Amino acid sequence: MTTIGILGGGQLARMLALAGAPLGLRYRVMDSSADACAGQFVPMQVGDYRDQAALAAFANAVDVATFDFENVPAESAEWLAERIPVFPNPRALGLIQDRLVEKSLFVDLGIPVPPFVDVDSRESLQAAVERIDTPAILKTRRLGYDGKGQFRLRSNDDIDAAWEALGAQASTVGLILEAFVRFERELSVIAVRSRAGEFRHWPLTENWHVDGVLSASLAPARVDAALTTKAVAHARAIAESLDYVGVFALELFCVGDELLANEMAPRVHNSGHWSIEGAETSQFENHLRAVLGLPLGSTRMIGQACMLNWIGELPEATPILREAGGHWHDYGKSSRPGRKVGHATLRADSAAELAEGLRRVGDALNRDAQVAPVIEVLTK
Ligand code: AMP
Repeated sequence: MTTIGILGGGQLARMLALAGAPLGLRYRVMDSSADACAGQFVPMQVGDYRDQAALAAFANAVDVATFDFENVPAESAEWLAERIPVFPNPRALGLIQDRLVEKSLFVDLGIPVPPFVDVDSRESLQAAVERIDTPAILKTRRLGYDGKGQFRLRSNDDIDAAWEALGAQASTVGLILEAFVRFERELSVIAVRSRAGEFRHWPLTENWHVDGVLSASLAPARVDAALTTKAVAHARAIAESLDYVGVFALELFCVGDELLANEMAPRVHNSGHWSIEGAETSQFENHLRAVLGLPLGSTRMIGQACMLNWIGELPEATPILREAGGHWHDYGKSSRPGRKVGHATLRADSAAELAEGLRRVGDALNRDAQVAPVIEVLTK
């Protein structure tokens, strides 16, 4: 019997645990919060990732460790990796945790990125704005996610406000200024690399964000073969350079036939949740297979799928449940503004059918704005 240790006990750990149940796996999750939602049905250890005694107890109880949360301190991951196998490797995790290092890696690999400059003072922000121009986004180098730790500068007049908002973090987590990309679409590649170096990817996903948080995903994205080939080559180059094992997401801005890399998430990803029902093997199952050294499963899609995120609070489930291809996911979390509390996936055999289902759901839940951009793509 194999026990998988998961650092972080949120919805990703919860969905990993569900996916691994048929494989006969056991789990132990570790989280700093006693009400982390994976703890509702897998054994959970409440502890601080920086506490060596807690890490030692965790290491003793598991055979292999992985992450639901990419901001586990890299030193804690390294400490664990000296005792048990840890995937993805702590070096990869450490590099990806810093936006500046991550972007520099992309540049080294020949992957285009939006122009960016390191910022460490009010003066360097001024200089960075002069170099990059506005609009631009000031972001924390570390610990930012879902649009948090970001400030958008529309013009030079916003420099003071941006420094006011994030300047204090220049000396702790660091800052980076990025050009604001007027992208036509946002895409992600969800891919997986095994311990033996086997690489697979799911069909590209198109994503829509609201206030920096994912709102809807559509798979497969409507992209031509050349764009897919380019996106997948970027993902593969990153995974191979990091000797990465497990599932990851590469987020891309699409401008014409150009792709700019935004960031990589070193874990299963929200824009791959559709794969639970929409693919032969989900991102969660393939992550476990990769981490365990098992053969990877097929990433072939079954029809077409759209995932809708529920942020803040859950809507009514019935309109989703009465759809033939409707699937409901409640993460067991309490409602809180901005919190990801669940998602739904609609799966259908054709674009027309999927668009119809989304229309019904949008009407019934009063969420026309959330489904509209997806329907537009499906009916083009
Ligand atoms: P991030 O946390 O960097 O993934 O940013 C969250 C979301 O903010 C992205 O998915 C985009 O919708 C938007 N965003 C981030 N960086 C940029 C950028 N340089 N240009 C335009 N939009 C951006």
